[in-house]
Amino acid sequence: MPNSAQTQLNHTLTLRIIELSILTLASSLVIRPLFVDLSDIFLWSAVVNLILTSVFYFVVRAHIVPKWEITLSLIVALIIIMPTLAISGGVNSQVAYFLPLYPILAALIGGARESIAITIILVICTLSATVFGHLLTDLTEEVYSAEKSFDRGFWLTAAIIFSAFFGHFFLRKYAELTTKLNEENTQDPLTGLLNRRGLNIYFSIELKKSLFTSSPLSLILIDVDYFKKVNDMFGHDIGDICLIEVGQLLKRNLRNQDIIARFGGEEFIIILPNTSKDGAALIAENLRNLVSKETFSDFNLPLTITLGVTEYEKHNDNALNMTKRADKALYRGKENGRNRVELSK
Ligand code: GH3
Ligand code: MG
Ligand code: MG
Repeated sequence: MPNSAQTQLNHTLTLRIIELSILTLASSLVIRPLFVDLSDIFLWSAVVNLILTSVFYFVVRAHIVPKWEITLSLIVALIIIMPTLAISGGVNSQVAYFLPLYPILAALIGGARESIAITIILVICTLSATVFGHLLTDLTEEVYSAEKSFDRGFWLTAAIIFSAFFGHFFLRKYAELTTKLNEENTQDPLTGLLNRRGLNIYFSIELKKSLFTSSPLSLILIDVDYFKKVNDMFGHDIGDICLIEVGQLLKRNLRNQDIIARFGGEEFIIILPNTSKDGAALIAENLRNLVSKETFSDFNLPLTITLGVTEYEKHNDNALNMTKRADKALYRGKENGRNRVELSK
């Protein structure tokens, strides 16, 4: 699941690159006519191109088009640029300097497939402009010397392919960073278990799976008994160590498919896929028993837990209701003397 702040940052970065690219294109188009003896057609195509690229830019800037349409705009902009490229001196034109930016832009905006598609289009266009460009123009031999074209064509193709690789590596790095960020965002720093955010992600996935496959799903809410006393008597740091160890003990004794998260201070929550309430009650009883037999921290402190168990009822049920039911059961467990498993009604 993409991190929204990260996505926003990426979007802003993309827009800045587009801004820069369009400025480069605009200046190359505006400045070049000042230096070359030009026919009217070039001047007008430059003006049309400028208007179209500006429109394209403002559409993207206004954030009003979905991703695939932006990619489409990139391809359209490319198609618009090509005739200008041919008319303004083919690969010898300053417009050509702008082309290697496209694979990177496409990677940033559209992703890997768009980048590859645009790279292929660009390479074909560049090679065509190199070989056949002189057929489309009546520019002077000086502007459009074949020798210069082949040289430029080669370097331009190399730069486009390099840019495609750069885009590819950028995407990979970005994916790595996003995964790391997501992990950090979904992990509880103390226990290393999932935090509430992580729980919500996996919980909703499991709820959907359960609905889709008609398999049962259960939830256990756990609260450490009289935990305040541990803090009061041994200090917060020892309390922390106890929480880490309880978390590890619980996790060690669950199946791979089970999801455990730190729900709050000294509370844990477990999602049990493919498990009915009765099955969950057995698992809960086992966990209760294991914790009560274990001692925690260097002080060998005995601890107990109270557990509330509930099952997904499918119709008119959701994560919040399940948690509320488990919490009620847990509360009953506390009232009935703690170190107990209670099932929801
Ligand atoms: P009960 O059996 O009714 O649950 O008693 P309790 O003392 O566990 O309940 P209470 O909710 O009053 O206290 C929970 C305590 O957990 C209070 C708080 O100091 C402690 N706690 C919450 N988060 C942390 C934490 O991250 N580290 C440590 N060391 N203690 C924590
Ligand atoms: Mg509590
Ligand atoms: Mg407690």
